[in-house]
This record gives sequence, C-alpha cells and structure tokens, in this order.
Amino acid sequence: MTRLIFLGPPGAGKGTQAQRLSDYCQVPHISTGDILRAAVADATPLGQKAQSYMDKGELVPDSLILDLIQERLGQQDAAKGWILDGFPRSLPQAEFLGQLLDTIAQPLDTAINLDVPDEVIVARLLQRGRKDDTEAVIRNRLVVYREQTEPVIQHYRSRQQLVSVNGNQEMDVVYDDMKQIVGA
Ligand code: AMP
Repeated sequence: MTRLIFLGPPGAGKGTQAQRLSDYCQVPHISTGDILRAAVADATPLGQKAQSYMDKGELVPDSLILDLIQERLGQQDAAKGWILDGFPRSLPQAEFLGQLLDTIAQPLDTAINLDVPDEVIVARLLQRGRKDDTEAVIRNRLVVYREQTEPVIQHYRSRQQLVSVNGNQEMDVVYDDMKQIVGA
C-alpha cells in the first residue's frame, strides 16, 4: 500500500516526480493545484472562488480545500493508496489530514520532502511559464511557502514520518532515490 505526501517548495519537481511514482505504484496522483486549475478552466463555482487567490500566489481558503480533499480520498480509486501533491500546505491542513486519515483508517506511509535551493527554484519556475509563474507571483509563492508550508515539514519530522530527498539532481536520480524510499 502506497500512501505518500510530497512536500517541497514550488518548482521542486513535486508534480513530475509524483506523477511518475504514481504510474509506477499504480495509485492516483492527487494534486490539489491540478484539481483547482481544472476547476478554474471549467469555470465551476470552486474555480471561480479559487482563481483570485491562485493568481496572486496565495493559498486558497481551507473552506474550499478541505472538503475537496476529503471527498477525493473517499473515492474508490483512493482505497488502494495515493500520492498527495500540494496538500497539506499549512499546519491546519496537516492536522485536518491526520484526523481524516485516522477516521478513514488510511495511515500515511511517508512524507517526502524534495529539497531544492532557492536560486534553482526561481530559475525553474520562470522557465515553466505557467500563468502564476511571473516573477512577482513566484516571489509571493515562496513567501507563502516559507511562512505557511515549511512548518509542515517539521510536523512530519517530529512524527518521524519525514524523509528528505535532494531535489537538485538529475530527474532520474531523484526518481531512483524516491523509489528506494517507497521500497519499489
Ligand atoms: P500548485 O500547483 O501546487 O503549485 O498550486 C497552485 C496554486 O493552487 C497555489 O499557489 C494555491 O493558490 C492553490 N493551492 C494548491 N494547493 C493548495 C492547498 N493545499 N491549499 C491552498 N491552496 C492551494
């Protein structure tokens, strides 16, 4: 059973690596960013509420995200495991997830922290060219990451559920490191 959380700054390569590992382990890759971008593209009520936060690089309010993740983890395909990418993004989200996983009896295996230096992150994000990848928004996403998401690393470290991977290596090397962690 594979149940993983991917942590790390924007641009660390979480999406790419999580997708690859999810194909390999045959469990769904659940990216809250992807779900929100799809909602924005489809102009759903969720998308309409989330868009302004995403455009600024702010976190979307928990009132929108927590139901979404609860509903997603309750779906049939998630019963066999999952890889979470982009959630939890704050301590309250991590607390919520912990309680949810207790309730649905789906214990977490490991939180994988992809470690990448700041200079590398900014260069990578500018190259990616997503709508929220302008320099000002990138800077804000890094501030938000440091203030709200970084404490989540310590949360899992203190529970001895954290493993750090050097994300500043060739993609294939990072992938091999991660496969080793999950014992694949
Ligand atoms: P990402 O694709 O993970 O970089 O997410 C893109 C944007 O979606 C973020 O900058 C946030 O505005 C929003 N978002 C994604 N996941 C979350 C989350 N767990 N909590 C709040 N906002 C989120």
